[in-house]
Amino acid sequence: MWLLIALILLLFATIVVMAPFLRTPAATTTPDISVDPKLLALYNRRDQLYQAIREAKFDLDTGKLSPEDYERQVAHLKRQAASVLKAIDRRQAALASAELETEAERLVQAARSQGGFAPPSGLAPAPAASSSQAVRYCPQCGARVRAQDRFCPACGARLS
Ligand SMILES: [Zn+2]
Repeated sequence: MWLLIALILLLFATIVVMAPFLRTPAATTTPDISVDPKLLALYNRRDQLYQAIREAKFDLDTGKLSPEDYERQVAHLKRQAASVLKAIDRRQAALASAELETEAERLVQAARSQGGFAPPSGLAPAPAASSSQAVRYCPQCGARVRAQDRFCPACGARLS
């Protein structure tokens, strides 16, 4: 009887302990900038450098490092940290643009599957002007006018 209870308790404890690990695979199926391995490695590197800078300060305070050695060491660490920060910026920008491309591609696919892709009005190509409707501009105000217009619709100037 006690053995059974002990087994049940053990099973229960195992489930509780394992639960977070059992959930993680589902969480990693959705792509997420925050779990990009390169970015995580860069974050780790940055944290290591910050930690090293703090340790150098500690060594200076406790007399293990001379001020000259400290300055040299920290200058070196800060240069490394700066390049890591730049790499983080680049990686974040690359991931963001990759996400935008994925999002744009998804929108195009969705539009196509709905039976036609209409680009946003800002991107729509201007309707082709036929030969009988050559593009003209008002000599007074520069507004675009149609070939058959005798007066400018914008400023009213007489058109030749
Ligand atoms: Zn005009």
